[in-house]
Amino acid sequence: MKQNNLFKLAGRQNKTSNTVIKVDQTLIGGKKITVIAGPCAVENEKQMDDIAQIVKRLGAQMLRGGAFKPRTSPYSFQGLGEEGLRLLAKASVTTGLPVVTEVMSAAQVSLISKYAHILQIGARNMQNFELLRCVGKQGKPVLLKRGMSATIEEWLSAAEYIMAQGNHKVILCERGIRTFVRETRNTLDLSSVPVIKRYSHLPVIVDPSHAVGHWEYVESMALAAIAAGADGLMLEVHQDPEEALSDGFQSLKPEKLAQLLHKVSMVAHAIGRE
Ligand code: PEP
Ligand code: MN
Repeated sequence: MKQNNLFKLAGRQNKTSNTVIKVDQTLIGGKKITVIAGPCAVENEKQMDDIAQIVKRLGAQMLRGGAFKPRTSPYSFQGLGEEGLRLLAKASVTTGLPVVTEVMSAAQVSLISKYAHILQIGARNMQNFELLRCVGKQGKPVLLKRGMSATIEEWLSAAEYIMAQGNHKVILCERGIRTFVRETRNTLDLSSVPVIKRYSHLPVIVDPSHAVGHWEYVESMALAAIAAGADGLMLEVHQDPEEALSDGFQSLKPEKLAQLLHKVSMVAHAIGRE
């Protein structure tokens, strides 16, 4: 990347030490690996209450779940909207887990920031500059997913947009890019992790679920992500993936999540992390 000086705030030239973001008691970007787990979408109260208890018991530090869903087809489940935010917030209170949820437009930012601990910008919105500026003007941390056709430079420039508005709490999330490979939903570009670490002080996590699109490949890529130096993982999990209203194919059953997290902790220890 030649234009390293473009990243006045996200780059390492003006801040060499790694940024650690604190959300309640959880740190992202420190020595400890942070796991964000939960369903693709908030579907109903029982699903959310149960999955929140499950991911907490299995050791996740944060809960995910979409209330506003960016779906390819307008006929697919679009999410429960504000009701979904309420269910997320309730599950957060009962488990003590902070919640991450997606914001799709600038008009939703003030509503979602009342319920969520971290605002997620999805891959499809990585270059929605108005949205980036809007989340940059509020105080909650932002989880910025890589666009499916975005270069690393474009991704860091998107982080710069948020930071230029005063919000320096940006977590980058690699979620795969579109290539000619058909066997996986996207191609997980794990080399972005060391590249980001070289150019930026921001924490970077990996979402293997959206990257591979099939639960059977999620564990391998989660382990590889930790080995590559990622600060955490975002994982989709569902009690009954066959019945999930979105992304069931790539959702782990709770027992698979348990197995994955056990192996993640072994890889983390092997590379001197917790
Ligand atoms: C999601 O995390 O729910 C999601 C839609 O992911 P992405 O934006 O990476 O496709
Ligand atoms: Mn999903």
